[in-house]
Amino acid sequence: MKKDDCIFCKLANGNIPTNTIYEDDDFRVFLDASPATAGHCLIVPKEHFDDLEDLDEAIAAKTLPLAKKIMLQLKEKLNWDGFNLVQNNREVAGQTVFHFHMHLIPRYKDDGQKIVWKPGSPDEGELEALLKKIV
Ligand code: 5GP
Ligand code: ZN
Repeated sequence: MKKDDCIFCKLANGNIPTNTIYEDDDFRVFLDASPATAGHCLIVPKEHFDDLEDLDEAIAAKTLPLAKKIMLQLKEKLNWDGFNLVQNNREVAGQTVFHFHMHLIPRYKDDGQKIVWKPGSPDEGELEALLKKIV
């Protein structure tokens, strides 16, 4: 399904032009308009899914192999030194476009970017209690 008011539905389906580096029946991969680094691109399914929770299983299963394929293409063409995959779900986690997408971010020595979190320091009791809640 497509969503009428969704910018990524329009970009993924070619209704608005993009700098496309890959396209198939299910996905378009295009350059991010505000890239973290050279080659930062987005894997975007052509169907609308709000986020990973909403994502169709078959599309989910195709996403990581596609990420690897594009990563290797970018390695060959841009000679990156490292690579981040980033995928944000919901506003509190930094999602700004509410159509599932995965960021592919080539990293270069001294590129000045940081994709980090503040590390916590739980004691063993806290970890055990948390584990009990999860499993
Ligand atoms: P999020 O924060 O939702 O994980 O990432 C959304 C990404 O989409 C951002 O990195 C932003 O730069 C990118 N973006 C938003 N609108 C457009 C657009 O119209 N064209 C392109 N190419 N990228 C966009
Ligand atoms: Zn959409």
